[in-house]
Amino acid sequence: MLAQFAVLLGIAGLLIVGMFVYPRWRVRRAVHKAFPLAYSAILRRDLPQYRHLAPDLQWQLKKRIQQFLFEKTFVGCAGLEVTDQMRVLIAARACMLLLNRETEVYPGLSHILIYPSVFVVPREFRTEDGLTVESRQVLSGESWSDGRVLLAWDQVMPPEGQIPGHDVVMHEFAHQLDGEDGVVDGAPDLGSQQRYQVWSRVMRDCYRRHAQMLAHGEHSTIDAYGQTNAAEFFAVSTETFFTNPHGLSMEFPDLFRLLRQFYHVDPREWAGS
Ligand SMILES: [Zn+2]
Repeated sequence: MLAQFAVLLGIAGLLIVGMFVYPRWRVRRAVHKAFPLAYSAILRRDLPQYRHLAPDLQWQLKKRIQQFLFEKTFVGCAGLEVTDQMRVLIAARACMLLLNRETEVYPGLSHILIYPSVFVVPREFRTEDGLTVESRQVLSGESWSDGRVLLAWDQVMPPEGQIPGHDVVMHEFAHQLDGEDGVVDGAPDLGSQQRYQVWSRVMRDCYRRHAQMLAHGEHSTIDAYGQTNAAEFFAVSTETFFTNPHGLSMEFPDLFRLLRQFYHVDPREWAGS
């Protein structure tokens, strides 16, 4: 009886090691390796914010990138060959959203599918009469709740350069963060009821003001696509927060403060004036 119990205990121990301890150990080992010099060169050349980050944030970013590259699978679509530049830059932009935060590296995400250019996906929507209509939508990126993100490489790295306020990688990974609490609704996991109340008040007010500005033909720092719904407003605000922080803080100071609290960074420190 005692021998059987000991055998069961041994099997349980092996299962725990196999399921939890060994995977964690493998991740730790990957993260503790030296960051390849070729990857650092890619960051310095192609990620404008990188050179202006404080050394501690550069270090954090590199560790997150290593974990991201270890855990996620990149797939080239429509004949695209995935390069280190693609892997490192997509991981870097995604991990900019995780700096200074106590979090895993997109635990629900497994695959990044990269297309050479914008891609077409079939869509179904219901009309007011209840009819189901099929259409085709052209996309530069898309975030799925089954663990996949789709990206068009020429939108990640536009040949004409990045436009302030636009970053398709940050946009799609904001959707991933949003979905970590089980629903993509414009509010990521905030931890407390009080924080949800503040979040929804600020987001709602800014969403309305943004819509009013557009309705009156005024220019808004936040892209018009943010008007689509609450989830898109959060994703587009995230792009603006990281790539046009001065513009956002001047035009929507409450929203800027809210995102600064959530992301635990102030991108104005890296963006110059
Ligand atoms: Zn979106």
